[in-house]
Amino acid sequence: TAKWIATPKRTREILDTYNFSFKKSLGQNFIIDVNILNNIIQKAGIDKEAGAIEIGPGIGALTEQLAVKADKVLAYEIDQRLLPVLEDTLAAYDNIHLIHQDILKANVHEMVKNYFEHGQPIHVIANLPYYITTPILMKLLRENLPVMSFTVMIQKEVADRMAAEPNSKSYGSLSIAVQYYTEAEVVMHVPKTVFMPPPNVDSGVLKLTKRGKPPVQVADEDYFFDIVQACFAQRRKTLRNNLVRYFKTTADKEMISDALEKAGLDGTRRGESLTMQEFADLANTFYQMTK
Ligand code: SAM
Repeated sequence: TAKWIATPKRTREILDTYNFSFKKSLGQNFIIDVNILNNIIQKAGIDKEAGAIEIGPGIGALTEQLAVKADKVLAYEIDQRLLPVLEDTLAAYDNIHLIHQDILKANVHEMVKNYFEHGQPIHVIANLPYYITTPILMKLLRENLPVMSFTVMIQKEVADRMAAEPNSKSYGSLSIAVQYYTEAEVVMHVPKTVFMPPPNVDSGVLKLTKRGKPPVQVADEDYFFDIVQACFAQRRKTLRNNLVRYFKTTADKEMISDALEKAGLDGTRRGESLTMQEFADLANTFYQMTK
């Protein structure tokens, strides 16, 4: 197994050869444990039929395992310095397409259409740069990519928030945003020791399985997400107080009481106790009353 990139020895060799210095600002923590990578790939449900989209290949630790286990790999790397490294470390594999681009600016739809087979099952899989986990995932979710799942290593606290259920400490607008598009589950906790250099935070693997359709019906998605955010704006305040604050001049207290009643919600509850369905009922009621 010494041949794999994802070993301390080989990783150090590659870093030395290219005189590579980690950029903290790009969230560069490389994985040096091939078992962890194979567990993640297995959790993602990737097999030889599947296409994989990787964000941030680094020196190619995960990319290499994907090249072996998947049909094709599409990988986006922002750091110019890593391109010659990857060309070298992944030279033995002919089923990888590497793109030098910021994933936040990439037209992933277009690439997916051109690169993968029509109807091929596609999975996003990554050890994400922690400083932009949420923007990356929200971009890919909102774009409605034709992928089956997202399996990503991220900061454990963020994974917990994305997968949280009502009435838990981690539950908030991020839970609703993610679970509107996917079923979310934390599938692994990962020790710091599998990274070089080790990150400052704990890590976990989050699996998001795309839904066929949203679990609730909303009149207007942006309006719905705005209301959800408003209800969590001040976590210790009641639903009613958060709504009064949010609507300020556009809806008076009577109207807010009226809407809460119509939606069948007790205004003294807190946002953290509402299910996605209750948020949808609330947003739809306000939408009807104010539009
Ligand atoms: N996949 C490798 C591994 O597991 O060893 C590296 C993971 S490292 C946590 C994150 C990688 O994402 C780095 O290679 C970094 O340069 C890259 N990256 C950071 N921001 C990016 C962006 N906006 N678009 C694409 N790649 C990015």
